Amino acid sequence: MTLQAITFDLDDTLWDNRGVMTRTETGHYAWLDEALAAWLERRGEGQRERFTERFPLEAYQASRSRLAERYPLRRGDFTWLRERALVEMLETFGLPRSAAWLWAAATMARFHALRIDVSPHPEVEPLLCELGARFRLGAITNGNLALHRLALHRHFEVSIAAGEIQAPKPDARPFLAALAKLGTPASRALHVGDSWREDVLPALRLGMRAAWIAADTPHAGEMPEGVYRLGHVRELPALVRHLERAG
Ligand SMILES: [Mg+2]
Repeated sequence: MTLQAITFDLDDTLWDNRGVMTRTETGHYAWLDEALAAWLERRGEGQRERFTERFPLEAYQASRSRLAERYPLRRGDFTWLRERALVEMLETFGLPRSAAWLWAAATMARFHALRIDVSPHPEVEPLLCELGARFRLGAITNGNLALHRLALHRHFEVSIAAGEIQAPKPDARPFLAALAKLGTPASRALHVGDSWREDVLPALRLGMRAAWIAADTPHAGEMPEGVYRLGHVRELPALVRHLERAG
């Protein structure tokens, strides 16, 4: 069976995302705290308590969890959850609604600037160049990074932000949307991702093949048919050559 298309998970597949999320989470919230305090100072309200004294980071995280429970369809739309949580806290802090929305939007601009500061593994750019010349490539992510702002975005004919279509992986819909847009039957597509639950299993159920990037995971024994375990995405071109020879 000839391979026509390859879809990629992004976070922890094309780059290591742990440091990025930590920097982004603390960085944008600290920015809000500083900038809001300076703004209140200029308005003669500098004697007020600091925003993060009233709402420590844990309160922000708890607020997002509550919103996700209250609006289950939005549970994977992390940008929406963050913005709504910020607005609610800022209003409770005493800001008028319009100012709360403006500060939430400014904070989310800061969030996205930090979130996009990812460092793809050095092999990723040449790998996407090579594979993009022979296959149709797509990106399927549960994350909320602004992929169009990354240089490697140009390699993907299709990119699906699954949370924003209210169907985060392992939901089949983002995979089906990608396959439809790529014009490829599942049987001729390979999905590449690091999560067994969110990448490998849904791809397999649809009849795609799956490359599981499982560097830190202990060996899980025999792989099901159609699943190929890789230690790093740099091993993908060799797998593709193997699949082409076998096909
Ligand atoms: Mg991932």
